[in-house]
Amino acid sequence: MWTPKLLMMNGELVPFADAKLHPLSLAVTYATTVFEGVRAYHMPQTGQFALFRLAEHVKRLQVGMKLLRMDRSYDTPYLLECLERLIRANEPDSDVYVRLLVYVEGTGLMATTGPVGFTAAAMPREKPKFAETGMSLGVSSWNRLEDNASPPRIKSTANYHNARLAALQAKSDGYDGALMLTAAGKVSEAPIACFFMVRDGVLITPSKSSGILESITRDTIITRYHELTDKQVEERVIDRSELYFADEAFLCGTGQEIIPVVKIDQFAVGDGGIGPITRQLSRDYFDLVRGVLPAHPEWRTLI
Ligand code: PMP
Repeated sequence: MWTPKLLMMNGELVPFADAKLHPLSLAVTYATTVFEGVRAYHMPQTGQFALFRLAEHVKRLQVGMKLLRMDRSYDTPYLLECLERLIRANEPDSDVYVRLLVYVEGTGLMATTGPVGFTAAAMPREKPKFAETGMSLGVSSWNRLEDNASPPRIKSTANYHNARLAALQAKSDGYDGALMLTAAGKVSEAPIACFFMVRDGVLITPSKSSGILESITRDTIITRYHELTDKQVEERVIDRSELYFADEAFLCGTGQEIIPVVKIDQFAVGDGGIGPITRQLSRDYFDLVRGVLPAHPEWRTLI
């Protein structure tokens, strides 16, 4: 497996181990950072890399910069050029996971909005360990953040304090991961991934007003499910007790890809195995991101 050599700070390539940010920057003191995790998949047929749904990742990042009132933004062609340079400079020979962070690197009082800086890092990433076995989830006693407090819809570093509390609690309680509820007790999402479940043949996911990140993988699943089956995913409020009626469940996200959920609160999901809809969507997803399927070429930016 390849190792990262260089990362990029403000457009300059620097040795991976030498990256520096001031500890009194607002990025650190007030978590004034928005970020993205983007994957560049190795395409077996051509040997090229394809950044998956880069435009959508950049759009979400730009809205985050706006909401945090950063005093500058970065446009999509510039970020693409930076990521291309970064990936080529690291000479990867397998899939790449890119972390792109934009933050206030200036120091000062809470309302400081600049100077703004960015870091892009390219790293290898192994397949998540629960991809084959499935994972157990425990419903967290930590509620998901509220939209009008710290909007989960944007990918701000500050939101991950809430996610970490749930993830750490789940681990200490013996689960593989957490599933969070809104303050109203409705199903929201996992700390770093969105949630889907199948009930009586219907694929269901919490609505965009359920305290979730507007996940790009979630959108990919919704789109592909419709294209493959001619059926719609139900995007709606999910009660907690519906979880125990699920025949199948899975998490999805750029980093997690598709992870089957085989137990919730120690109850088996369906028969406790990986269900057929989860398998079908998972196979389709990997064929799509690697360009094995020609569908949606606009989702793959070739490098
Ligand atoms: N929810 C949260 C809280 C996440 O951190 C992630 C990972 N980015 C996701 C959902 C999945 O989002 P995406 O599919 O855009 O990676």
